[in-house]
Amino acid sequence: MLTANTKSGKKISLGYNYRKETLISLRNNEEFLCPICGESVCLKLGDQRIFHFAHQRGGTCREVFENETINHMEGKRQLFQWLLGQKVPAVLEFYDKAIGQRPDIMFIYRGKKFALEYQCSPLPEKDFIKRSNTYITHEYIPLWIISANHIHRKRINIMAFSNFDYLFLRNTPLENYYIPSYCPERRQFHILESIHPISIKNAFVQHSIFPLNQLSLEGLLEPKLLSNLNSENWGKEMDSFIINWMLHPNPKQKNFLNEVYNRDLNMFLLPPEIGLQIPHSVLIQTPPIIWQTYLFLDVLADKRPNDILTLKEINFHFKKRVYRKEIVLRKLPLLDSLHPITAEISYLRCLAKLGILSEHGENSFKLERKIMIPRSNREREEAKLGFHQKYLYMLTKQ
Ligand SMILES: [Zn+2]
Repeated sequence: MLTANTKSGKKISLGYNYRKETLISLRNNEEFLCPICGESVCLKLGDQRIFHFAHQRGGTCREVFENETINHMEGKRQLFQWLLGQKVPAVLEFYDKAIGQRPDIMFIYRGKKFALEYQCSPLPEKDFIKRSNTYITHEYIPLWIISANHIHRKRINIMAFSNFDYLFLRNTPLENYYIPSYCPERRQFHILESIHPISIKNAFVQHSIFPLNQLSLEGLLEPKLLSNLNSENWGKEMDSFIINWMLHPNPKQKNFLNEVYNRDLNMFLLPPEIGLQIPHSVLIQTPPIIWQTYLFLDVLADKRPNDILTLKEINFHFKKRVYRKEIVLRKLPLLDSLHPITAEISYLRCLAKLGILSEHGENSFKLERKIMIPRSNREREEAKLGFHQKYLYMLTKQ
């Protein structure tokens, strides 16, 4: 840890740039105490590791500071100094007695209280959620920043995210979903944004890297939305996703395939309108092409032109699929107020822009024309031709 109290009650924070000589003389004259448990701690001033305080062996402190890595201490120290450099009031290792939690950094920005957690080691999901909820109920805005060591790039613009990585997902008022990340060795932020899942793990991502001194706090809290829409690449990813998915289906997938088959659909002959890259799809863990197929079967397949689809009907089917675990929602503790059905609604809005539906009052849609189901590869290729251009045009126009 980087903070301790002296016996006379003075707080020493190693987040500030003390000279080594100053600290040595301080160490010769003072005894340091842990601000949480009150036990005595040593000031370590080695050349190998960042200067820090450590409990005596066998200490009973309930915070497990001693498992802190160099990366973690360096990271929070750099982020602390980055905030100070922007004149943001901040406290390193602020211990909030009332909630028994100690964010790495507490800071105030635009009148709001933030709890910054720089996370290097994996943390059980339930602990992450509990800590975040405690912050939220005590009027902190949690700002979790994941260590850049967790980032796994697969191909250009495609990354693999674990459920743990997704816990860090935040959103901006302009509906940019992103994960903030930091690397203390290179002093760089990584902003993983415009996240559009392809499968449970893989997602299209815009990956921007900023040197620490070139990104402001505002830039970190509200990164600009960079469009990474590429309808043609997306279509290719959907095609290869289906092939992989069909090769080794697990029992759940077999149920899905049976249902699709019984409803006279062929996964290799899906119309290009199913499996779209749409906003908010990150709220649902089930791959987009799967939940969009369910939505098609549930509310679109049997409708005729001029039939109405109500929000109530959409909601009913959605809940049923979720209950049966055919659609699985993502655990996103930082976006709790967003209902995952938002993803389905935004898909239907896309279909409205494509002229298949029209918005009919506030809570319903009207079917304008049926989605044409290709009966052969040739028909499918024809349907795809031109669709992607039209789709991209439509998206850039909105
Ligand atoms: Zn302690």
